[in-house]
Amino acid sequence: MSQHGVNSEINRLLGFLLLSVAIGLLLGQVLLTIIAGALLYIAYQLANMRRLLKWLKHHRLQEVPDANGLWGEIFDLLSRRKRLEIREKKRFKATIARITATTSALSDAVILLNSSYGLSWWNEATEELLDLKPRDIGSSIINFVRHPDFVNYLESGKYDIPLTLASPRNIEISLEFQFTPVGDGEALLVIRDITRIYKLEKMRKDFVANVTHELRTPLTVIRGYLEVLEDKLPEQSQDEHYPKALEQMRQQSLRMTTLINDLTMLSKLETDSVNKTQEYVQLKPLLEMICDEARAISTQGHEIILTCDKNLYLLANDRELHSAFSNLVTNAVKYSPDGKVIEVMASINLANNLLVEVKDSGIGIDQQHISRLTERFYRVDSSRSIQTGGTGLGLAIVKHILLRHDSRLQIRSIHGEGSTFTCVFPERRVKESDNISETSTNVNSKAV
Ligand code: ADP
Repeated sequence: MSQHGVNSEINRLLGFLLLSVAIGLLLGQVLLTIIAGALLYIAYQLANMRRLLKWLKHHRLQEVPDANGLWGEIFDLLSRRKRLEIREKKRFKATIARITATTSALSDAVILLNSSYGLSWWNEATEELLDLKPRDIGSSIINFVRHPDFVNYLESGKYDIPLTLASPRNIEISLEFQFTPVGDGEALLVIRDITRIYKLEKMRKDFVANVTHELRTPLTVIRGYLEVLEDKLPEQSQDEHYPKALEQMRQQSLRMTTLINDLTMLSKLETDSVNKTQEYVQLKPLLEMICDEARAISTQGHEIILTCDKNLYLLANDRELHSAFSNLVTNAVKYSPDGKVIEVMASINLANNLLVEVKDSGIGIDQQHISRLTERFYRVDSSRSIQTGGTGLGLAIVKHILLRHDSRLQIRSIHGEGSTFTCVFPERRVKESDNISETSTNVNSKAV
């Protein structure tokens, strides 16, 4: 409101007063005419207020009431504000329409949930995927996806890894659920149909599992005949090539057996449910056994030192743990020259995680390879790996096993100086006790 408008209103009031006084003087009734003038002024203000109210009620923007002075300014200002508001509203509506059109084009279901998992909004694809009707607004999403894993997922508070489940409407369809909190207790749930990817992945896993299974029998037969031939060789052959060829055949068949064993292990890790029985495994005897096995395969007399408190227990599958730690210690032996020291240490760090470290002072690994080491068949130096009986699958197996235990593998290495492989287990899986018997009940672990 400008000063000009206020001044003109004051002038109007003064004008009324002066006129009333002048008329009062003429009539000899000053007080009466001042009262009459004041009443007239009030009536004028009330009339303008009434016009304002009427105008605001009827929203007829084009018909701005005609007034001057302060009232003229008030009407102008309000009409400008109203116009702006209408323009903003239009823009807002257009944006909403655009977002709705875009989300309708999405093949993924997008759902906005309130703080109690009630449905606030969803796109077209959701209607198809979950059979939602407009009347379902406000109902809990749990009424539409009743699977206990889904409820656990919602309540876990851990949403970095999406959940895969069969569709509640058709078990042939695989759905991936990704829940993302979006502040103020609301959340966005995106559901993707991953049936094709899931089927392809399953085909791949089944193929590997079948091939390895089918190869096992012929390989056993070949190895059996090779042993027979080796036994018979001295009587039959004078040719020096035969023993060499037979030895190579034996070595290669041994490699194939190791490869098949590793592939079978990997495919079991991929297909077996994580919810296998897990119990508290005492680490010290397990690591002692692994170190003894490593000493037995170390032809070059490595010194293997174990540091582990006997009170440390880990909630895990002991066979899988054995396989993971054994792969790391065997690698340390394979990739360290004669007589080097290998340290195996179990400890609790400041964040209360359990660390199982395998440290060697062997050939080390160049930085550029470290991020790829856990890929299947990735080898830094394939000739060395093959020469030492490696399959290139050991670290992939370790990574899979750790994932099944909500854990991860850290690799630090300096080329030419040595490497440290650390398995990091979360606090909730660790117990420090001198008597675990009362806690060694079976507990299911969560998929990662
Ligand atoms: P492999 O059967 O070839 O040993 P792994 O998956 O166990 O396969 O290891 C992958 C590669 O990582 C190996 O080929 C090797 O180059 C490297 N590697 C693993 N452990 C060590 C180690 N302790 N020191 C140096 N290199 C290692």
